[in-house]
Amino acid sequence: MLSSTHPAFTSSSELVERSLKSVWHPCTQMQHHESTPLIAVARGEGAWLYDLEGRRYLDAISSWWVNLFGHTNPRINKAVKSQLDKLEHAMLAGFTHSSVVELSETLSDLTGNVLGHVFYASDGASAVEIALKMSFHFWKNTGHTKKQEFICIKGGYHGETIGALSVTDVPLFKTAYAELIKNSHVVMSPDYRQADNTPEQSKEAIALQAAAQIESLLKSNSDSICAVILEPLVQCAGGMAMHDPVYLKRVRSLCDEYGVHLIADEIAVGCGRTGTFFAFEHANCWPDFVCLSKGISGGYLPLSLVMTRDEIYRAFYDEKVSKAFLHSHSYTGNPLACSAALATLDIFREDQVIESNIDLSRNISKALAPLGADSRIKHFRNQGMIWAFDAVIDDPVLAQSFSRRFFAKALEHELLLRPIGTTVYFMPPYILNDSEINHLAEQAHAVFDAVMK
Ligand SMILES: *Cc1c(COP(=O)(O)O)cnc(C)c1O
Repeated sequence: MLSSTHPAFTSSSELVERSLKSVWHPCTQMQHHESTPLIAVARGEGAWLYDLEGRRYLDAISSWWVNLFGHTNPRINKAVKSQLDKLEHAMLAGFTHSSVVELSETLSDLTGNVLGHVFYASDGASAVEIALKMSFHFWKNTGHTKKQEFICIKGGYHGETIGALSVTDVPLFKTAYAELIKNSHVVMSPDYRQADNTPEQSKEAIALQAAAQIESLLKSNSDSICAVILEPLVQCAGGMAMHDPVYLKRVRSLCDEYGVHLIADEIAVGCGRTGTFFAFEHANCWPDFVCLSKGISGGYLPLSLVMTRDEIYRAFYDEKVSKAFLHSHSYTGNPLACSAALATLDIFREDQVIESNIDLSRNISKALAPLGADSRIKHFRNQGMIWAFDAVIDDPVLAQSFSRRFFAKALEHELLLRPIGTTVYFMPPYILNDSEINHLAEQAHAVFDAVMK
């Protein structure tokens, strides 16, 4: 019965205590909160999050890579508020609305209308599943019924629903559910850390070696393969593994040669993160499907989408219902989320963000240089607005707890950072000023010092 009300929160510690009783937090061994802090966020502004006591934390990972232009951004706030007074939601089957149309047109323009059809969902894993289903169903609709399998990349991450885990290769998230999952072909990662001391030439050699594995698989199995799915340029959740764009070019031409689709999961690397709006632009070609989520709504509201080609769309266009793509989610094309996305894309255009991020990225790299030169790290790397390095820790017990210890120590230094294993990374919003850049670089180095002691 909805009879009792709960008292208002008077302190962070009370909020935290009640949260741990009633909220099952994501990606967390809840028992670790006996020693790892849980932060009660009261408000956000720009690159900063504030707790109930007014302590602040620089959001150096854009709250799981979603926030591009700061918290409570006035321009996005205004757009969402104005949408709120017009239409909060209406179903997208049998109905349409201006925000979803405008968003689809704007995104399509960004691909020169190559990927001119946009299908919507709410989270990244669903976008991945949509792309997998669309590819499979395209081949079925066009008479290629033996095509039922996918190729994915070692260390790749595409979300954590059962379907998305079938193309994900991160044991931490997958192993417990192995029996439930239909496996895919896993091929070598183009991760350039495999080239020791990396002159440009050998980054490329690693990329081509990885692509050659796809080629030999396609040579014998292309009849049964629907698509290759990959994270272009940076495999993020797998540990910020970066690769040379020649890999994308090569895989694109192999997919053409052997008649399989190429799915680019740009959920993390899209929206300017790698230096171009779509990461695939670095390869001067287009995949058959692009999945976007995370940054597309500026970090405001759950929104994901899949963009694809006219040829694929047309294979579903028929009088038979069974040929149609019947996938749906209740909140497909939500107007509030679309209005946040449109405001986000307006900022990209009005502020020439892709261009100004070149300088921003250079300034952040400069500030991080002393940390990058520290002898206790290896593989300091950067792509656009992503920086990462690997801590050198010999003791496996210390390595195991590194991420949690780093997270906790970073909070003491007014920083939100959450390493992946022993990989520390920075993925800040695109709005840091000079003093925030210095705070990030200096405090991160101090945190690293303290944790390595
Ligand atoms: C985060 C992420 C996903 C999953 O998105 P969710 O919204 O968390 O389901 C899929 N692919 C990549 C590359 C991601 O980074």
